[in-house]
Amino acid sequence: MSELKYCQGTKCHTHMTKDRLKGQQGNKTFQTRRRSGFYYGGGNFCSYNCQADWFNDFGDRAIDHFGRTTEAKHLTENNAWVKDYDWRGNSDTSHRHYYLNRITREQRPLTEAQYNDTNYTLNTGE
Ligand SMILES: [Zn+2]
Repeated sequence: MSELKYCQGTKCHTHMTKDRLKGQQGNKTFQTRRRSGFYYGGGNFCSYNCQADWFNDFGDRAIDHFGRTTEAKHLTENNAWVKDYDWRGNSDTSHRHYYLNRITREQRPLTEAQYNDTNYTLNTGE
């Protein structure tokens, strides 16, 4: 059984839903949701509202911490490569994996290992 974790929403306990009302009879309080998993914000938030609450409180500081975009980024031939494959059904032959340049439409073959390797890229810029 996986460990329970709390929603990271800064105002989760203030959303007054029945499932958040917990505690002994006569001493119940609305509490932060606790689950084995969540579906929002990379598994950190119980709802889109809680994700938005967190971002409203901390988003600016998080962006400053990890690097604020201060000029336009450009999609060029150098960073337009995306991995793709042609489905070849359920036969014993594997699918045809390739890199596709979204600007030039050039295709270059990929091995399945290269396709699955998240560190392997032809892109030379952001
Ligand atoms: Zn929440």
